[in-house]
Amino acid sequence: MAVSLTLGIVKPDAIATGKTGKILAHLEEAGFTLRAARLVRLTDAQAGAFYAVHRGRPFYPELVAFMTSGPCLPMALEGEDAVATLRTVIGATDPAEAAPGTVRKLYAESKGRNAIHASDSDENAAREVAFFFPEGELAGMR
Ligand code: UDP
Ligand code: MG
Repeated sequence: MAVSLTLGIVKPDAIATGKTGKILAHLEEAGFTLRAARLVRLTDAQAGAFYAVHRGRPFYPELVAFMTSGPCLPMALEGEDAVATLRTVIGATDPAEAAPGTVRKLYAESKGRNAIHASDSDENAAREVAFFFPEGELAGMR
């Protein structure tokens, strides 16, 4: 499997409860290399655009409100088969259903406030990395 990039976001719940360092350590121990990261407070428009695929779903307004409730930390992460590997490392959307030892099992509060985002396909990873990190902001890739 080739080395690739994916987008992770440490979500506002995890930042607010001081779990950022532990989550970054978990991702590094899982083999990921940080290629870009930026602490941002998303606007309604940004969070709405990022999660546009979920527009119309019942949880969408709550999701946008949560993602704009405080700073979050988007990260471009590099690793072997990065998209699939990161999805495995973070666990199921609902921490109650997440496998033991996954980021969400360890650090998420609930299905909505679930500590971390990860891209779900290579196509979405490319779109999501570009959403937060214009070309050239990826360390070492210039
Ligand atoms: N979400 C929620 N309720 C649901 C489904 C999703 O609050 O029933 C939120 C949750 O924060 C989740 C995000 O919306 O991480 C995006 O949903 P998705 O199904 O893409 O889950 P993910 O890819 O994050 O596991
Ligand atoms: Mg998703």
